[in-house]
Amino acid sequence: METTMTFEYAPAPESRAIVTIKPKYGHFIGGKFVAGGKHFPTINPATEEVLSQIALAGKADVDAAVKAARKAYTNTWSKMSGKERGKYLYRIARIMQERAREFAVLETLDNGKPIRESRDTDIPLAAAHFFYHAGWADKLEYAGLGTSPKPLGVAGQIIPWNFPLLMLAWKVAPALAAGNTVVLKPAESTPLTALLFAEVCQQAELPAGVVNIVTGDGSTGALIVNHQGIDKIAFTGSTEVGKIIARAVAPTNKSVTLELGGKAANIVFDDAPIDETVEGIVNGIFFNQGHVCCAGSRLLLQENVAEEVLHKLKNRMEKIRVGDPMDKNTDVGAINSKEQLAKIIELAAVGDSEGAERWSPACNLPSKGFWFAPTIFTGVTQAHRIAREEIFGPVLSVLTFRTPAEAIEKANNTPFGLSAGIWSEKGSRTLWASQQLRAGVIWANTFNKFDPTSPFGGYKESGWGREGGRHGLAAYLKGVSHE
Ligand code: ADP
Repeated sequence: METTMTFEYAPAPESRAIVTIKPKYGHFIGGKFVAGGKHFPTINPATEEVLSQIALAGKADVDAAVKAARKAYTNTWSKMSGKERGKYLYRIARIMQERAREFAVLETLDNGKPIRESRDTDIPLAAAHFFYHAGWADKLEYAGLGTSPKPLGVAGQIIPWNFPLLMLAWKVAPALAAGNTVVLKPAESTPLTALLFAEVCQQAELPAGVVNIVTGDGSTGALIVNHQGIDKIAFTGSTEVGKIIARAVAPTNKSVTLELGGKAANIVFDDAPIDETVEGIVNGIFFNQGHVCCAGSRLLLQENVAEEVLHKLKNRMEKIRVGDPMDKNTDVGAINSKEQLAKIIELAAVGDSEGAERWSPACNLPSKGFWFAPTIFTGVTQAHRIAREEIFGPVLSVLTFRTPAEAIEKANNTPFGLSAGIWSEKGSRTLWASQQLRAGVIWANTFNKFDPTSPFGGYKESGWGREGGRHGLAAYLKGVSHE
């Protein structure tokens, strides 16, 4: 008989005193904060408290931002040596580290993710992206991307709400290192760390107009995508919007990179170390509430170990702490928005109606805010919508397989191809499987590991191009193949 001993955790709240949130924000254009016209609220999804009023950029604001970016590109940034550009990037990276706690608290308040994750993952990785690309700025000629690589010009960058500052860093750092200037739009539900980043640009004395930040919703994003003065679009978000953008830029000369949805297979072979695998499954799907495009949302278990893995997984899930994102012991925080919660609830209901079996541990969810308990569906087949569509929440679909060939066939049977996981003790099996899988990133005996040196991106409907590493730099330089 198994015996478990449970210790209660005392509350360990992080203080929010370190951040000062203004009641209202404008845009950051030409090195200055300028007042916006219309505003909309950004809220804390864990409490529904209104944190601030955010400006909704219209045509005139986007025009002004593009103009400022063009001016900075022509007069300053494209003329500056790589060595000088690198100094600014190092400065930004160091200031981000110095202000890391402020960024982490702000990210957690605006996004709902646990403070442990914003503190230990999002913010350090964002700074790491600036450090890494600072190092490239004066070495572009040695990147194997041509002898005298040239920037594209002005980049329009549109990012999602799941890793707000980290996605900003993925976009801004390589663009600047390669000599481009940017107009960036954060997601409407998580603009606050981008606005704090604007302050960091001022503090680093980055030349005016090199980074411009306009806030708004999809309408602002569309103005950026369709702007004549922009040379490149970099987008991370849904496949649906990615398709709209691909259509919009097709008849233009704009370069484009798209990082879209996923439905990653996390494949467990029968020789996998089960306890470590269970940790990897939990990290794969419940990290960041499952709001992760590369989440391991389809668990493929070899039939002869399925029962054991599921038993241990459920035991492990009983220990996941869901609740106040500001508590340092919290594992799973709030769903980012009411709309996203509605989508998760809807797709989970489809799972029920299609005959899959739902299981969640008992959770005491807060009464205010947006919450969804960590959930698994067993008995899922490939025909089920929960096996095919991205849920973008803490919901795992479990399928089984008998042979390695069947695992690969099922794993690849998806319109997506962003990431995959393989759990096996055998190196030869891991290498064989990784060669068969049609996914941009493949983790072996681990999951959701990110590093600025490693290119990230998808096959098929998961996107175009790569971000990070040498490949990511290529996407901000003229005439260099992106793959
Ligand atoms: P999600 O469904 O995860 O919220 P979206 O793709 O809708 O993802 O949003 C990602 C980013 O794209 C956000 O910054 C959003 O404002 C922006 N966006 C939404 N619609 C459009 C559009 N038609 N054109 C450009 N950007 C858009």
